[in-house]
Amino acid sequence: MASTDWRQSIGTLLGFLLILSPATALERYPSLTDDHVNDLARVLAPSEQATLRTDLRNFRARTGIQVMLVTLPSYRDYTSHSTFETYCTNLFNHHGIGDRYRNDGVMVLLALRDRQVRIEMGKGYDRSWDSRASNIIYSQMVPQFRENNYRGGLQRGIDALLRELELPTQVSPAPSLGGFWVLLATLATGGAVFGVYQAWVNRKPKCSRCNSQRVTPLVPTPALLEEHLTPAQRLEDSLGSVKYPLFQCQDCHHITVVAHNQIFSSYSRCPRCQNKTVQTTYRTLREATTYSEGEREMTKECKFCNYISVETHIIPRERYTSSDYDSGSSSSDGGSSSGGGASGSW
Ligand SMILES: [Zn+2]
Ligand SMILES: [Zn+2]
Repeated sequence: MASTDWRQSIGTLLGFLLILSPATALERYPSLTDDHVNDLARVLAPSEQATLRTDLRNFRARTGIQVMLVTLPSYRDYTSHSTFETYCTNLFNHHGIGDRYRNDGVMVLLALRDRQVRIEMGKGYDRSWDSRASNIIYSQMVPQFRENNYRGGLQRGIDALLRELELPTQVSPAPSLGGFWVLLATLATGGAVFGVYQAWVNRKPKCSRCNSQRVTPLVPTPALLEEHLTPAQRLEDSLGSVKYPLFQCQDCHHITVVAHNQIFSSYSRCPRCQNKTVQTTYRTLREATTYSEGEREMTKECKFCNYISVETHIIPRERYTSSDYDSGSSSSDGGSSSGGGASGSW
């Protein structure tokens, strides 16, 4: 009995201290021991928990996004003053769900006796996600919850949520006007350089046989090109990657061929045949989003020999602007939420 008295005294003392501390200190948070499924209200069977945990873990491995399900018997067991929405935001921030820089975590919180559910989204999601979350709650979850089918509602809701998160989002493109001016400046500079380059290119060569400087350019007829250029040179000439002007010597009538590498050509040199006849093309296999990397296929194909190479490259995720990196006052080193998302009740 003595030990019970002792515990009661400590309890009273703690209660007294809590009353003295600011109101927020009265809020408690359940310990969430699992990164993905914390079924404190015991809505799911152990096997269902395990399946969902595997799904969410795989999803995170694939996209980097942490999605956590929390079920509570009642959120009012933990707070005396917060609304359901505020409590969800506080719980999210207390545990720091998601990546601390991307703020891309998502928490699904079901409060069973309160008959409320919320999809709380990290700061990295813009407000357009609020209506998406609301949509998922009212189309997939609430109808099932009304039938007391909590497992079904959570399963359908989380499936829909993961699908939505994996879709490429309409990330606002780089400001096009800025891009236009950069392009214009590049072209202007390029044009000036190109003018100098052209003057240098058009200088007359010396005759390759008698060294005379008295040479005149010839109009390149197909017959002349056929006679003086190799097949590879003729292909380069027609692709515009290397130009081969012809000059005829006025003294010895010899025809001199000059090679002018076209530096602005999109063709590159072939590692097999050494001609400048390789075309590079890109194909986007998967768009990058703010949440997942994309993939791009690069094909290099020689128009002269049969050289071909196909490589797949990762397109980095779209990045948020620096202002989105402000992680606020989270007590953990994870992501934070500023209250985005949606709630539903039934
Ligand atoms: Zn000559
Ligand atoms: Zn080749």
